[in-house]
Amino acid sequence: MFFDTHAHYDAEEFREDLDELLSSMPGGGVCGIVVPGCDLVSSRKAVELAEKYPFIWAAVGVHPEQAWALSDGEMDELRAMLQHPRVVAVGEVGLDHYWQENPAPEIQAQCLEQMFTLAEETGKPVIFHERSACADSMAAVRRHPKVRGVFHCFGGSVETAKELVELGWYISFTGVLTFKNARKAPEVAAFVPADRIMIETDAPYMAPVPYRGKRNSSLCLPQIAEALAKARGITAGEAAELTKQNALTFFGLKKE
Ligand SMILES: [Zn+2]
Repeated sequence: MFFDTHAHYDAEEFREDLDELLSSMPGGGVCGIVVPGCDLVSSRKAVELAEKYPFIWAAVGVHPEQAWALSDGEMDELRAMLQHPRVVAVGEVGLDHYWQENPAPEIQAQCLEQMFTLAEETGKPVIFHERSACADSMAAVRRHPKVRGVFHCFGGSVETAKELVELGWYISFTGVLTFKNARKAPEVAAFVPADRIMIETDAPYMAPVPYRGKRNSSLCLPQIAEALAKARGITAGEAAELTKQNALTFFGLKKE
């Protein structure tokens, strides 16, 4: 069985056939999915999905591409959502300086501080998105030693992964592991300690080979587990089991 630690089922791409697709997950070998929120509306939708499907859990937060300085009322709404028994993390949060049109770095940094505050208050882990902002992201992580989290869709170096692991963080890999031109990801995947690795689809984005460019879903986890297995010299079954157990531990869910 596979655990997808990051999939955006509130996305427009799933509107037509969402219920049909999600209902096929247990039959497709998927035992758990975490749906992160990207703003307040999408966080509410993530919670709704977690209430509807027993194998879905939600995270709530504000994505760096949507970042703004949250009002007290907006913070209170996120706080209330974090008390929900099926909300397991603060996410998706982070820093993204890749796109010119993204919110200004100061706004992103302010929003991220607010998200770290929520994690500190609730003791919930953080799902972190980092793109073209490695130094600032690591500085933020170091400033909050009580917070644990995962760097999702990890694209950084072995050195960064090493520091994250030392700080108690996890590393999660997507279908990028299967891309022919991905050199860094398999190298990092081979390095990360066995008890700190997770896998995710980041659906509907990042579909693994041979579905690259198509709509992604949690049903593509076997391809990602296989690529992880290849990088680490273990079997695909071992990779699936290892990442599932790590996800259950990371999100504080009961072990099977
Ligand atoms: Zn995401």
